[in-house]
Amino acid sequence: MSTTSDLSFLESVNASFNLAAEALDLPKGLARQIRTCNAVCEMKFGVELHGGYEIFTGWRATHSEHVLPAKGGIRYAPFADQQEVEALAALMTYKCSIVNVPFAGSKGALCINPKKYSLEELEHITRRFAQELDKRGLLGPGINVPAPDMGTGQRMMSWIADEYQKLHPNEINAKACVTGKPVHFGGVQGRVEATGRGVQYGIQEFFRHPEDVSKANLSGGLEGKRIIVQGLGNVGYHAAKFLEEEDGALIHGIIERDGAIICDQGLHTEDVYQFKLEHGKLEGFPEGTFIKNGNDALELPCDILIPAAMEGVISIANADRIQAKVIAEAANGPITFDADKILLNKGIFVIPDTYLNAGGVTVSYFEWLKNLSHVRFGRMDRRFIEAQGAKIINLLDSGIEKPLDECAKAELLKGPDEITLVRSGLQDTMCEAYQEIKEMHDSNPKIRDRRTAAFASAIRKIGDIYDSMYL
Ligand code: NAD
Repeated sequence: MSTTSDLSFLESVNASFNLAAEALDLPKGLARQIRTCNAVCEMKFGVELHGGYEIFTGWRATHSEHVLPAKGGIRYAPFADQQEVEALAALMTYKCSIVNVPFAGSKGALCINPKKYSLEELEHITRRFAQELDKRGLLGPGINVPAPDMGTGQRMMSWIADEYQKLHPNEINAKACVTGKPVHFGGVQGRVEATGRGVQYGIQEFFRHPEDVSKANLSGGLEGKRIIVQGLGNVGYHAAKFLEEEDGALIHGIIERDGAIICDQGLHTEDVYQFKLEHGKLEGFPEGTFIKNGNDALELPCDILIPAAMEGVISIANADRIQAKVIAEAANGPITFDADKILLNKGIFVIPDTYLNAGGVTVSYFEWLKNLSHVRFGRMDRRFIEAQGAKIINLLDSGIEKPLDECAKAELLKGPDEITLVRSGLQDTMCEAYQEIKEMHDSNPKIRDRRTAAFASAIRKIGDIYDSMYL
């Protein structure tokens, strides 16, 4: 939902796509084929609540099917609409391609304010939604695999998986019909924080490229860099926490629905998060200065601005006043197409959403693989790797005068567990994709920014798949 942009969210996504397609030499009609949303289904269904019936409206858009299954979250929001779902489904197509995850793009939404319903009511509504998706062929491990998004989480994903299992008792891979499940219910370690973790890895990768850092008028590494985060939900909270606690960045400001807290000395993300959990708002937090109009804080000077709340928050209405040196798009579509042009002219370096928030779908892919293989990562090879480590230590010990210290031995002896493998797989994915986007940017003089390069990278790879299908 964009507020003041002259283009809607969907138009913004398509305009960015077109810009990238124009920079590539594509066969006639191919760009249109890739850009077109293949199918979108609107569902209206009744749910028995409070002794009567309530009618809900939901959507599932399948943007592409060049590979299967199609993948994308389900959003529960009172302002959800079909155009938004189509835009998000399109972003999923490009995002999966950018990070080399073999899924097509899909997205779903239910028009609902989840806060107005009890847990039992939400379960009832979610199970009914799952039935509706299933009977229309929009749910299944090989067809269409939802995941959490705004307003949904692990619990809802396990209700969907359970409902699907009931409807398909002979489907041995039933749990792979949805990702983002709790670990004890077929989920994978590290999925909850995956998008925020991916944002951290993506920003780390930016700082590993000094030429990009200097393009943004910055120098050095992440340590001490001043960050403002908008949205302290799943993505924003984890990204801010990891960047602060592991990379030494300074969280200068946090923006939520009710306002923003700004603190020159830096905020402890965990303290702010706990305060928000307890009070439901940021106002009253004992440190820093509270600003009632949170959007004003988007315009404060900082090194990195991380919009992690919703789409369209940087538009032609405020782009001119943004002072951040880097905008790391953790949310989907936080910058409108027109605002992007303004930011580019101002020399602000944008790390695009299609790349930066792909950590969630990457780890969803790992979860899906785990469900299909019916074995947790590391189970087959951990002992073996530990035994290999022991052999290396023995060899080293026999060949050197001073035996290795216990710490070094413990490191060499440790076989990888699931969380280690998930993190290293995600980090590798984020590094590889960053490099691919950068190469696309560096090699094509028609491409002016990283968003266009990311789109071009996706179009090129999806185009190759279409090419091989229609040989
Ligand atoms: P969430 O519901 O957990 O968190 C969103 C947070 O933003 C909430 O704390 C909310 O109060 C706050 N917020 C909403 N509107 C705001 C506003 N106008 N100003 C300030 N704060 C506001 O959602 P999430 O899962 O963290 O998703 C955030 C964004 O990231 C969305 O754009 C979503 O599509 C995108 N995303 C999420 C994932 C994921 O794995 N969760 C993956 C990829 C992209």
